[in-house]
Amino acid sequence: MSCGADIIWIKTKSGKKMPCDFFGRQYFKRSDNGNRTVVTLQGEVVIKCIFVDTYDVADGAGYVPHFVTCPNAAVHRKKPEKAERAAQQAEQISL
Ligand SMILES: [Zn+2]
Repeated sequence: MSCGADIIWIKTKSGKKMPCDFFGRQYFKRSDNGNRTVVTLQGEVVIKCIFVDTYDVADGAGYVPHFVTCPNAAVHRKKPEKAERAAQQAEQISL
């Protein structure tokens, strides 16, 4: 990536290669109220999930798509969670 982030490329089931954060691996649980997206190493794109702390309660593990943490390569940040919040705030400001 031009932003210099460590990226893992995962081929999704639709055959598309998706750049994900190398350090963005998360345990996830499917939830109707979830608003997170992860891509598993098997190439499954899981939407509407929540992140959980331990494997015990997780439905699986996946990687966070890089576009979530880096909406703009120029404003890349090291901490995914922070970047996400910053992106949301930026969105609200521009509304
Ligand atoms: Zn980036």
